[in-house]
Amino acid sequence: MSQVLSPRDDFPLLSGDDAPVYLDNAATTQKPQVVLDAIMDYYRTANSNVGRGHHRLALAATDRYERARAVVQHAIGAREPEEVVFTANTTDAANLVADVVGRRIVGRHDKVVVSGMEHNSNLLPWRRLCDSVGAELVVVPVGPDGRIEPAEFAAAMGPRVRIVAVTHVSNVLGTVNPVREMTAEAHRHGAFVLVDGAQAVAHLPVDVRDLDVDFYCFSGHKVYGPMGVGVLYGKRELLDEMTPFRVGGGTVKGVSHTQPVRYVPGPARFEAGTPNVAGAVGLAAALDYLLGLGWPAIRAHDESLVAATLDAVADLEHVDVVGDPGATPCGIVSLSVRGIHPYDVGGHLDAHGIAVRCGVHCASTFLDSLGLVGTVRLSFAVYNTLEEIELVRSALKTVEPGPWTAEHPNERFL
Ligand code: PMP
Repeated sequence: MSQVLSPRDDFPLLSGDDAPVYLDNAATTQKPQVVLDAIMDYYRTANSNVGRGHHRLALAATDRYERARAVVQHAIGAREPEEVVFTANTTDAANLVADVVGRRIVGRHDKVVVSGMEHNSNLLPWRRLCDSVGAELVVVPVGPDGRIEPAEFAAAMGPRVRIVAVTHVSNVLGTVNPVREMTAEAHRHGAFVLVDGAQAVAHLPVDVRDLDVDFYCFSGHKVYGPMGVGVLYGKRELLDEMTPFRVGGGTVKGVSHTQPVRYVPGPARFEAGTPNVAGAVGLAAALDYLLGLGWPAIRAHDESLVAATLDAVADLEHVDVVGDPGATPCGIVSLSVRGIHPYDVGGHLDAHGIAVRCGVHCASTFLDSLGLVGTVRLSFAVYNTLEEIELVRSALKTVEPGPWTAEHPNERFL
C-alpha cells in the first residue's frame, strides 16, 4: 500500500522533528503556510471594513471578501456567489436556518427529521425549535453498522415533515450518508433539506447543485482554513425569502423611525456587523489549496490511510473497529479497546505523541444508541502518513487500563 500525498512541509505546525502525530483532524485541521500567508497579507495590505466605505482600502477589502465568496461558490458548485453566506462556523449556520426558516415553516404537530448520528450542532437547534413550537423531532435510527437504512429514512417521511437535517459524513464513524437520495425523498414530501457538511468538505468533492440540497453548511477550520469562519449555502430563492437572523449594520437598505425596515438582498442580510474578512480570505486560500491537490489524489490518500488503519488493528485482539469496517468510512476510523475507557487510551496515545479525540464527539445520543461511553477516533488529513498509522499500532499494543477505567468499571467500553 502506498501513500498518495506528502504535503507535510506545507504545514508549519507539523514540520520539525518533534511534530505531533496529529490524528484529530475531525476536530480541526492544521493550516498550510498559504493560508497563514493569505491572512497575514490581507491584514498587511488590505485591512479595512467591507461593504461600507468608499475609499480605496475599503474597496480592496470588499473585493477580497467577495472574491473569497466566489472561491467558495466554485468549490461547492453553487450557482452564484450570492448563495454563499459567511457564518462563524457550522453551528452558527444550522442555528440560522433553524431560527429563520424553522420558525417560519414549522408549526405545532409538524415534524422535523434528523438522523440518529447527528452532532449536537445539527441536533440541538432542531430540538429547541421543535420544543418551542410544539413540533415533533423524528430521529431516523442508525444501524449497528453505522448506516441509515433507506427504508427507515423513507418511513420517517410524510406530509407533516417540513425540514430534514442530516449530516453528510458522520463525525463519529466517517459513514457517508446518501444525501442526494435522501434529499430527493425529502423533496417528494415537500420538505426542505439542510446537510451538515462539516466532515465532508475536506474529504469529498461536494456539489450542492448535484445534491440538490436546500442548505449546506461547513466550517473553515475543518478544511485547512482558519477558525471563526464558516459557510451557509442556500438556494438563492430561499435566501431571498428569508428574514435576517441577526440585524444591524450591513443588513439594511434603508431605516427610518417611521417606515418599515428594508433589508438588503443577498448574503449581506445574514452577515450583520463586521464580518470575519481575514477568515473568509483564509478559507478561500484553504479551498484553493485543497482543490490544487486534486480530488483523485485526496480520495486515494484518504482511502489508503483508512485501509492501513483497518489493517493495522486487524490482528490486535483487544482493539475493535466501531461500526462496519467494510463500509469504507471517509476520513475517520473509530476504535474501541476492550475493557479500557477511551480516555485512558487517549492518554496513552498522547504519551506517545499521538493526538486523537476520545469520548462521545459531541454526539452522545449516537454513542448511547451504540451502547458505548465513547470511542477512540482517528481522523485523517492530507498530511498524515502510513508511518503514523504504524506508530498508532505500536502504541495500541501496550495500552493498559488507567484511572478512567478504574472510575467507570461497569461502563461499556466494548
Ligand atoms: N457537525 C459535525 C458533523 C461536526 O463534526 C462538527 C464539529 N465537530 C460540527 C457540526 C460543529 O462544527 P463547528 O464547531 O465548527 O461549528
